[in-house]
Amino acid sequence: MKAKVVLLGPPGCGKGTQAEKMGDDLGYVKLSTGDMLREAVRNKTELGLKAKTYMDAGGLVPNDLIIGLMKEKIAGLDKIILDGFPRTVEQADALAEQVDIDIAINIDVPDEELITRLTQRRSCPDCNAVYHLTNKPPMKEGVCDKCGAALYQRDDDKEETVKNRLEVYRKNTFPLIDYYEKRGKLVTIPGVGDISEIYAQVKKSLL
Ligand code: AMP
Repeated sequence: MKAKVVLLGPPGCGKGTQAEKMGDDLGYVKLSTGDMLREAVRNKTELGLKAKTYMDAGGLVPNDLIIGLMKEKIAGLDKIILDGFPRTVEQADALAEQVDIDIAINIDVPDEELITRLTQRRSCPDCNAVYHLTNKPPMKEGVCDKCGAALYQRDDDKEETVKNRLEVYRKNTFPLIDYYEKRGKLVTIPGVGDISEIYAQVKKSLL
């Protein structure tokens, strides 16, 4: 089974959901830069204070803040799934210096679906589980199935910011599809339809 996995795709494509499943089902350690940054913002750490303005605007946090953080987190881990990193070519180059990625899974979702998905997303502040008001609602409204915490809507999932995040994705992160394709690491999986069917394809690509 492939051990070092990158999940690629625009915001709202389902990276977090698929990464969560891989963690629960196959024992991967999920490293999500978005989750780490949101925790840093909540705890008002130095990193959180620096990152907040970029995140609120839907922009990217500067590479130097992210690369060092990820290097530390990745060190010594064997079976990892990277969710939300790398997001720029500079980050991908820094990652390649540290570990040899086995596969980059690109989850492909048409633009028109992404806006609805993001604006209908609800997140758990404690365990980082993600829900969708229509496609994947929690069993009890507003409450996390996994840990019972009250769900919230991320500030950057509000419509004004979502549009900017999609533009930032196109400009900075989309080139990574080509980057991993050229290195023979890319697999693209359609990200529309039943979550467990998408997961079945993700799982197959890991064998
Ligand atoms: P996410 O939860 O992956 O959608 O990330 C939320 C926000 O965190 C993004 O819109 C960025 O502001 C920031 N962020 C997450 N990962 C990265 C990264 N690899 N590089 C720069 N900024 C990031």
